[in-house]
Amino acid sequence: MADLRHVYSGKVRDLFALPDGRLLFVASDRISAYDHVLPTPIPDKGRVLTLLSLWWFEQLADVVPNHVLSLDVPAEFAGRAMVCERLDMFPVECVARGYLTGSGLVEYHESGAVCGVPLPAGLVDGSRLPEAVFTPATKAAVGEHDENVSFEVVAATVGAAEAADLRRLTLEVYRRAEAVARARGIIVADTKLEFGRRAADGAIVLADEVLTPDSSRFWPADAWEPGHPQPSFDKQYVRDWLTSPASGWSRSSGQPPPPLPDDVVERTRAKYVEAYERITGRRFE
Ligand code: ATP
Ligand code: MG
Repeated sequence: MADLRHVYSGKVRDLFALPDGRLLFVASDRISAYDHVLPTPIPDKGRVLTLLSLWWFEQLADVVPNHVLSLDVPAEFAGRAMVCERLDMFPVECVARGYLTGSGLVEYHESGAVCGVPLPAGLVDGSRLPEAVFTPATKAAVGEHDENVSFEVVAATVGAAEAADLRRLTLEVYRRAEAVARARGIIVADTKLEFGRRAADGAIVLADEVLTPDSSRFWPADAWEPGHPQPSFDKQYVRDWLTSPASGWSRSSGQPPPPLPDDVVERTRAKYVEAYERITGRRFE
């Protein structure tokens, strides 16, 4: 498209500026794991991420405004792109956790707290927290790992009032999403949001993707059993295969990950589609 100016490519998305200044936000089929973009795409992943984000933006419309303006996109991106407001992004990964796992669990074992929020003793992998907590992280450059930080660090970065707004909005979005997904048999264990500021009126707007398997941990509620890692609707097949001897790859090798075998690609695609269909109650076509 001649009129598109490439602005940025992240691990999964490509951003273009339209001539009128709006942003074309394109989700690719790329998949990342262990901070690497893998050489093998997952067919339809970009469409699943886009459809699921759009569905959630609607569910959340009374909680927070979002960056979506239109779905009128160039044919080559049909179904996996949206026209968005270009925002001044807060450089914070706004994470809410209702359950303890992943980096939260690691921190809890070290300090009894996550991002400076003290938690009760005796929690295990997969435990439900007494209430959802805001556990922000800094945004890392490509290839680097996001780092959990305290609320005070966020306040020092974006301002105290803004940090409080981000925390409130993140927890409001999480609580709504948790209730919606729970009614469909899915636990939203945690999720990562990104917000930006709209120049015109200074409003804080929900941006990026929302509540997808890439940004969230979704667990089937009927299989939830704290004390060990939970089955989840995400890149589990990819991660399991990459860390198995079959892949011939190790995280510490410094080498890029190898291409994925067809069955891992197909199972991963099926998991993304299943997450979309279970959460929205819609059929993916
Ligand atoms: P990753 O998510 O893989 O850690 P990333 O966030 O850099 O890396 P992508 O998610 O692929 O990469 O790219 C999306 C980028 O677009 C992010 O940098 C995000 O902050 C930015 N972004 C999202 N919405 C907007 C918006 N409305 N205005 C401006 N930038 C946005
Ligand atoms: Mg991102």
